Amino acid sequence: MKRDYEYIVLGLGGFGSAAVYWLSKRAGADVMGLEQFELGHVRGESQDHSRIIRLSYHTPSYVELAKHAYRAWTHLENDAGEQVILKTGGLDLAPRVSAIPLSDHSGSMEAAGVNYEVLDAAEIMRRWPPFQLGEDVHGLYQAESGIAMAARANAAHQRVAREHGATLRDRCPVDSIRPLNGEIEIVAGGVEYRCRRLVITAGSWSNRALAPFGVQLPLTVTQEQVTYFVPPRPRDFQPGRFPIWIWLDQPCFYGVPTFGEQGPKVGQHHGGRVVTADTRTFEPDQAALGRVQQFLGRYIPSALGPIIYTKSCLYTLTPDRDFVIDAVAGYPTALVAIGGGHGYKFASLIGRTLSELAVDGRTESDIEPFRIARPTLQLANGPTNQ
Ligand SMILES: Cc1cc2nc3c(=O)[nH]c(=O)nc-3n(C[C@H](O)[C@H](O)[C@H](O)COP(=O)(O)OP(=O)(O)OC[C@H]3O[C@@H](n4cnc5c(N)ncnc54)[C@H](O)[C@@H]3O)c2cc1C
Repeated sequence: MKRDYEYIVLGLGGFGSAAVYWLSKRAGADVMGLEQFELGHVRGESQDHSRIIRLSYHTPSYVELAKHAYRAWTHLENDAGEQVILKTGGLDLAPRVSAIPLSDHSGSMEAAGVNYEVLDAAEIMRRWPPFQLGEDVHGLYQAESGIAMAARANAAHQRVAREHGATLRDRCPVDSIRPLNGEIEIVAGGVEYRCRRLVITAGSWSNRALAPFGVQLPLTVTQEQVTYFVPPRPRDFQPGRFPIWIWLDQPCFYGVPTFGEQGPKVGQHHGGRVVTADTRTFEPDQAALGRVQQFLGRYIPSALGPIIYTKSCLYTLTPDRDFVIDAVAGYPTALVAIGGGHGYKFASLIGRTLSELAVDGRTESDIEPFRIARPTLQLANGPTNQ
């Protein structure tokens, strides 16, 4: 059994699956990915039918990053011979006086040369009759927005990585990590391996994987949830008839047209309680569900119907909500990526970026905002979650 690899990826969720795919294009059989649970498990952050992808963002640099993200997904689609992005168009909605001004998004798209439309409530309701909005609500429409088919894309990354010769082992937790001179020794599933570069994509378990490097980040893990509903007129919520949407206020809600289930999906962004990967439950939070139902009752009443299910999921948040994509401080042999509550749309791009850092020691992507040494990650009171 091969025990020496150039590249080992720890954690095969959204980012790790992308990392093994992009690494395998450069290094084939010299790549191994290790996952503590079964591939496609639901204890992490990346496993659902859909995640929102959009160019509309609050800063021009995220808009630019999102442009690159679409290109990375297209690359995967061509390699895998299957579709993983479904463009439905996307609506940012908000009261004219809101906690998150729409002008941040329109200004960012303007600066990045992205086309969008400004719509008033009447026009939104004319195009998408399920919305019931007062005149105080306005919106931005961007046609490229849509669905990243998360579960399918993770499987595609994994499948093509294997076709390129990579070894992926699931039910194989990494139990110990030891940085050596120029390489890293790890023990996983009772077997000792060595690699020249270790890529850590451990989501809510990141601080555990970083501990052997003497690094702990001020991460907060929250338990979030989404709910699928069966609307009385399912046709109104089919992709092509209904967009992805985000309500940009406090609280912030979002929704996805019917995809993977018999009706649309709705959630509250960052409405969950603080947990750890060990203390989280899989029980629906009834209060959070109530807030979603109340919101729908007011603004999209015809989306309400019998609940198919509510599914929980974790956010791993940095204090500034920006990602971490960098070498582990003091250890150029180890790389880490952490995505927070909005990372999936960038998964393939982040995998490519990690592969460039691992193979070339540099990347085409602008990772300056995501450096591990940035001041917000050096908080004196240490991590919230282990
Ligand atoms: C409800 C919800 C909705 C979201 N909506 C969106 C959205 O619409 N758009 C968007 O862009 N983003 C969205 N996100 C955020 C996005 O899903 C995450 O940023 C992204 O999936 C993070 O992926 P990851 O690979 O870092 O984490 P994970 O998918 O959790 O992967 C980490 C993996 O590492 C494994 N692991 C950890 N430790 C070890 C070990 N010691 N040994 C072996 N394996 C290990 C874990 O088992 C896990 O499989 C949402 C998140 C949630 C929870």
